Amino acid sequence: MSAIDDEYRNDGGDDSDLDMDMQPNAGGSRFSAAEKGKGRAGPKTKAGKSKEIYSWEESYTRSWDVVQEDEEGSLQQAVGDFLARSRRKRLQAPTETVRRTIIRHLILVIDLSASMTDRDLRPNRFDLSLEYSREFVTEWFDQNPLGQIGIVGMREGVAERICGLSGNPPDVLKTIADRRNLEPAGEPSLQNAIEMARGSMSHLPTHSSREVLVIFGSLTTCDPGNIHETLKSCVEDKIRVSVVALAAEMKICRDFCTETGGLFGVAMNEGHYRDMLFEHVPPPAVRKIEAVAKISNGNGAGPAPAAATGELMMMGFPTRLPETSAPSLCVCHGIMKSEGYICPRCLSKVCDIPTDCNVCGLVIVSAPHLARSYHHLFPVKPYQPV
Ligand SMILES: [Zn+2]
Ligand SMILES: [Zn+2]
Repeated sequence: MSAIDDEYRNDGGDDSDLDMDMQPNAGGSRFSAAEKGKGRAGPKTKAGKSKEIYSWEESYTRSWDVVQEDEEGSLQQAVGDFLARSRRKRLQAPTETVRRTIIRHLILVIDLSASMTDRDLRPNRFDLSLEYSREFVTEWFDQNPLGQIGIVGMREGVAERICGLSGNPPDVLKTIADRRNLEPAGEPSLQNAIEMARGSMSHLPTHSSREVLVIFGSLTTCDPGNIHETLKSCVEDKIRVSVVALAAEMKICRDFCTETGGLFGVAMNEGHYRDMLFEHVPPPAVRKIEAVAKISNGNGAGPAPAAATGELMMMGFPTRLPETSAPSLCVCHGIMKSEGYICPRCLSKVCDIPTDCNVCGLVIVSAPHLARSYHHLFPVKPYQPV
């Protein structure tokens, strides 16, 4: 990440978090397994040479050396400090103007494989993830009223579209409200899920962000093809992939995050899991395209993507119809309704805002929606403690 960090400011997402993660256990994926195999061929062939370390350990700083026990031998204090520190850092986000995307599109990919039934997080990974996802969706729409969320599940080796991109929070929440429809089973497929997410965002205009957030509980992925091809196309399509891992770090997940500019983290406990998820609520800073291009070329990926430019976009403020008005057909559902909003350009009637007009395609918003999105662009200065 350091090369990218030099080029642009990250959105307060702290990569230092990751130093604490369980990096040595990177095993599981067949990609990382291959790498580990290489490292093991090195030293430490006899017990007598125990001072020598694996080659893969050399560049690795052991995070547990940094953590100090208190007098009673408990780590509670150290972990608490660590969490408080990262929370404070997030609150003290930079107050200068950073370019951010306020029209956001996010696909939330939830692992629904058998590994989600593990009980290392209480009550279990699956129930906790569903609960946090609901909270996340609510909070995300509150902070990003102009955004849209879609949900994809990974189950039995295929990707399932649980909810298409939608700007209506109740619609999205309804799809993940019932756990019985989402019972975990089989193996996850990271490639299938990311390809499905990529497909559903391919039509989006350049001024909106394309983000994928993966909640990944498994240590393996069962893919039909070469997942590195998917990674390459994500870089080309400027899709930002972030992963919240629940078990341990997988190299392919880390690669997705570093090369597309997303955040990667491994949840240490329930609170940390929630914190990592909620780091994705504020909109990410727009990356300098040069940084992306440099990385993708370094890996032999395709040509550099076109530079992002400032663009003006058309928005309309609709007229709200009172409940006492005569019922008429809405263009979104085709049902008779009294209340609704009138598109200022084509005068068609829609049920909910913010939305794109079904007839003329105009973005219809209300002033409070814009104002709520704007506070990310002009944040309040931090208060001076007294
Ligand atoms: Zn409607
Ligand atoms: Zn219209």
